[in-house]
Amino acid sequence: MEKYFQIFVDGYYGYFTYLLDEIMYPSWGNYFWWLVGLSLGVWLLELVFPWRKSQPLIRKDFWLDGFYMFFNFFLFSLIAYNAISNVAVEAFNDFLGLFGVTNLVAIEVASLPTWSQLLILFVLADFIQWNVHRFLHRIPALWEFHKLHHSVEQMGFAAHLRFHWMETIVYKTAQYIPLAMIGFGLEEFFLVHIFATAIGHLNHANIRVTYGPLKYVLNNPVMHTWHHAKQLPKGSSGVNYGITLSLWDYLFRTAYIPNDGRDEPLGFDGMEKYPKTFWQQISYPFWKNKGD
Ligand SMILES: [Zn+2]
Ligand SMILES: [Zn+2]
Repeated sequence: MEKYFQIFVDGYYGYFTYLLDEIMYPSWGNYFWWLVGLSLGVWLLELVFPWRKSQPLIRKDFWLDGFYMFFNFFLFSLIAYNAISNVAVEAFNDFLGLFGVTNLVAIEVASLPTWSQLLILFVLADFIQWNVHRFLHRIPALWEFHKLHHSVEQMGFAAHLRFHWMETIVYKTAQYIPLAMIGFGLEEFFLVHIFATAIGHLNHANIRVTYGPLKYVLNNPVMHTWHHAKQLPKGSSGVNYGITLSLWDYLFRTAYIPNDGRDEPLGFDGMEKYPKTFWQQISYPFWKNKGD
């Protein structure tokens, strides 16, 4: 027990000093300044090439979403995730140790060239996320958490990271075991993470780009607008579940783009009653799931 406590404290403290370092010393290998840079870059594109021209420059919930962005990217990890996950990983390994399993690695990828390791990690992680995203829509208790992301009414880059912290836990947990089995740690490769963040920002941005024929591989603002559309095709619980890749939606026939969807109303049924502030939105699924 003492061991777990020590890991928790170290995780907490380690992340705190790491975060402070990130903010104080900008560099090319630095998440904090990449997030700031990408956000300013995509925002600039929105200002110069706006898709929905009548949308205000400081759109509805701009500041709230900006707060979510830093909360989910940094603060949540600072407050809890890093420390909890270190303990969970240690406990999981100890649990496996009970059965004599000391190494989860089933396929060794470390011997492959770096670029192919990156590609495998990226494609596999994205496919797992696509599946998790489907479950967020199909399982009612999970949907109560995911509603937060769908409560955005006007699209803009920061809506990308408007989501409940529980999603971080669900996504990371689902990714941990399969990725560990091929020899990847929980910490993602920097480049993959930055690339996914850039595409995610663009998916939510108020600009119209579809990347030409690459639209069958990469998710894009037009496709993702339909994911946020209030009106779903009949009998469907969601469309266009893609995170970075659109490929899975084309392969598994969940792609749906009837037109470019520029003026499509966004959200979900009963939006009017959904809470409007950070603390209410964060606590909502807990009392909602208790039966209402
Ligand atoms: Zn969704
Ligand atoms: Zn979205």
